[in-house]
Amino acid sequence: MEEKRLPAGSTEIGAQAKGGGAGTEIVLRIEDLHVHFVKNKILEKRTVVKAVDGVSLELAKGEILSLVGESGSGKTTLGRAVIGLVRPSSGRIVIVVDGAERDIGGARGKEWKRLRAHLQIVFQDPFSSIDPNMRVYDALRIPLQSYGVKGQSAVAKKISDVMRRVGLPEQVVNNYIFQLSGGQRQRIGIARVLLFDPSVIIADEPVSMLDASLKGDILNIIERESKENGVTFLFITHDMAVAKVVARRIAVMYLGKIVELGLAEDLLFDPLHPYTKAMLQASPAIDPSMKERIKNINIIGELAKSTDHPSGCKFNPRCPFAMDVCREKEPPLKEVKAGHQVACWLY
Ligand code: SF4
Repeated sequence: MEEKRLPAGSTEIGAQAKGGGAGTEIVLRIEDLHVHFVKNKILEKRTVVKAVDGVSLELAKGEILSLVGESGSGKTTLGRAVIGLVRPSSGRIVIVVDGAERDIGGARGKEWKRLRAHLQIVFQDPFSSIDPNMRVYDALRIPLQSYGVKGQSAVAKKISDVMRRVGLPEQVVNNYIFQLSGGQRQRIGIARVLLFDPSVIIADEPVSMLDASLKGDILNIIERESKENGVTFLFITHDMAVAKVVARRIAVMYLGKIVELGLAEDLLFDPLHPYTKAMLQASPAIDPSMKERIKNINIIGELAKSTDHPSGCKFNPRCPFAMDVCREKEPPLKEVKAGHQVACWLY
């Protein structure tokens, strides 16, 4: 099948993608999550990496929430902790299944396997760990059978269903993985997680390896799944432009903390945190008229090492507005207007 291509450099990618199916029914709650690693276990050189440092988020059914931050901000660790690939140091991850709240951390055995099916992850390169000489059909059949789906016709029916959902013709299942284009690989990556009818998908930079012209197709699949099937997405990206296109809400993460959270239009038209403003300024694909509304922010230096968190506001060494209080006390994330939260002493 010929892939739909958008004009190169288009800023209209997935223009309608806004997680339109979002309601108010909470399906995933992250409560005060910490992921700290001990980097060097030799006692005198022991350092603690605070990759995620007290994050709380709620995601509604059918919502797409973009989690944005630079490399090293902790966003990928957060996503992996949510699906159990990384063990949290403290905090809770609660998923709502059939109306009942389930604590992922407390689940064991069959219960954990059942809950885990509801929470899936799509990686940047979904086939980096899979034999490229495998046929697509087998790449879909094996996880489905290991989940317990029996019978050739049930397996074939499910595979046919997910191929339709990701917009690929069924004959692609006969191809080898190495024969797939980048866009097809990512579609099959999404098809592999849809096999389990998840309620929440962590999408970790799913379009960052694709040409601009192919990103729109993947974002449209994500939008369709959120709208038509009520799938909730935590969409992890370093790219503000992609975050704005796909999400109803955006959370900005810096050194393990959420520093701003709100509706996408509020963050773009009225960003509050100096770091959010700096990210918007640095994004080449953000509309120049939007950037004009943000006063020039010259942030200082590089992201601090995750082992080297400054006291007070973690952004204070880079912030042109830093005050004494910023170096002494960490600002809490607080609501400054309906649905718009920021962690900054300026507000
Ligand atoms: Fe800058 Fe202070 Fe706000 Fe931190 S709390 S972002 S240092 S003004």
